[in-house]
Amino acid sequence: MSRPQSIVILGGGFGGLAAANELRENLPQDVRITIIDKKDWFMMDLVKLWIINGTREFESSKRSLENITKKGIEFVNEDVVKIDPVNKSIRTKYRQFHYNFLIISLGVELAPEKIPGLKENGLVLYDINDVPKIRDAIRQFKSGKIVFAITSMPYKCPPAPFEAALLIHSVLEETGASSSVQMDFFSPAPLTLPAGGPKVSEDILQILKSKNIEFHGNNKVISVEKNKLKFENGETDFDILIAVPPHKVPGVIVESGFAEEGKFIEVNKTCKTKYDNVFAIGDVNQMMVTDKIAVPKAGIFAEAQGIAVAQNIIGIIKNELQYLSFDGKGGCFLETGKKTAGYLSVDMFAKPDPLTELQPTSTEHFSEKEKFEQDRLKKWL
Ligand SMILES: Cc1cc2nc3c(=O)[nH]c(=O)nc-3n(C[C@H](O)[C@H](O)[C@H](O)COP(=O)(O)OP(=O)(O)OC[C@H]3O[C@@H](n4cnc5c(N)ncnc54)[C@H](O)[C@@H]3O)c2cc1C
Repeated sequence: MSRPQSIVILGGGFGGLAAANELRENLPQDVRITIIDKKDWFMMDLVKLWIINGTREFESSKRSLENITKKGIEFVNEDVVKIDPVNKSIRTKYRQFHYNFLIISLGVELAPEKIPGLKENGLVLYDINDVPKIRDAIRQFKSGKIVFAITSMPYKCPPAPFEAALLIHSVLEETGASSSVQMDFFSPAPLTLPAGGPKVSEDILQILKSKNIEFHGNNKVISVEKNKLKFENGETDFDILIAVPPHKVPGVIVESGFAEEGKFIEVNKTCKTKYDNVFAIGDVNQMMVTDKIAVPKAGIFAEAQGIAVAQNIIGIIKNELQYLSFDGKGGCFLETGKKTAGYLSVDMFAKPDPLTELQPTSTEHFSEKEKFEQDRLKKWL
């Protein structure tokens, strides 16, 4: 293929930053690489849990996305309003961009409005605006009932809501309130971590039990009222509700015909979409492993997909094609409080079933989690 080329990456999150860096390190400067993001900062979502337990602050944890321009990656801080795969162009509010290769890594949006009453009566766990409210509410809480609820599947980082519950339990131990606070956890799934299988789910159940956090599976939330959470088959009261809201793809994905309302962009291991030279990586996609199990929405997988796609684009541009696809291997931490964490190793495409294993909790795993964040910030920004 003759140069120069233009590669546009939509979204400067986990997947987009991993892809952009891989491309820039391996392609000459006359290949233009552009990231478009409506935010001008990046912070790993996992830091939200550290804001909740009071060990980190948002302002000092986020990094400016402008930093990538120092590496020769262009950054456009605008909202993507249209993707036109036929004319190979992208429209933001003010400009149009043409591409030879497009990587869509726009992640997911939170949709608490899909559960009537949730925004008004509960705290939204993944919402950066509610995270400090959760921190303050639990610090002041002396006694009563905290309810955690996963409102729908799939959601980002399957272990994260359990980590939140365990970290909050740790904070309550610090404030002396743990023995007078009841903690209940509700999920629409029968197991704690369906994608992890029965053994890992049981391991997590036992960790929750050891902290007196009661797990209630098969409870589908339909609405929230003042101090009351309603399920299809019952209800429970609460003093504080901390909920994972439903997720949806950004509107531009549906409006540009990449996915139907309520769905994600369907891809296989290559992350190719139905359009030429257009790839979808990370949370915005749905990659089925079996007819029931999809690759979980996690940063580690967004990163691995971004790198695999980048290597393929590099191969095409350099005429060195050796096709690589995402291998489904990865791992993430299950933080358990007091600077400890377990480690969940995952091989999604293992045969006959995905392989997952939860390695025991240790302070070493917690240090590795801290390093996981720092290494990527250093490499990407
Ligand atoms: C509390 C919590 C803890 C987590 N912990 C872990 C963990 O320990 N390990 C792990 O691997 N994963 C973890 N995750 C999951 C991880 O954060 C996500 O899976 C990951 O961020 C997905 O990467 P992505 O690139 O697909 O999307 P994102 O990182 O969400 O990036 C998407 C980007 O697109 C931008 N964007 C969206 N729409 C538009 C638009 N229309 N125009 C312009 N820009 C737009 C957004 O501003 C955003 O910057 C955690 C998640 C949460 C919520």
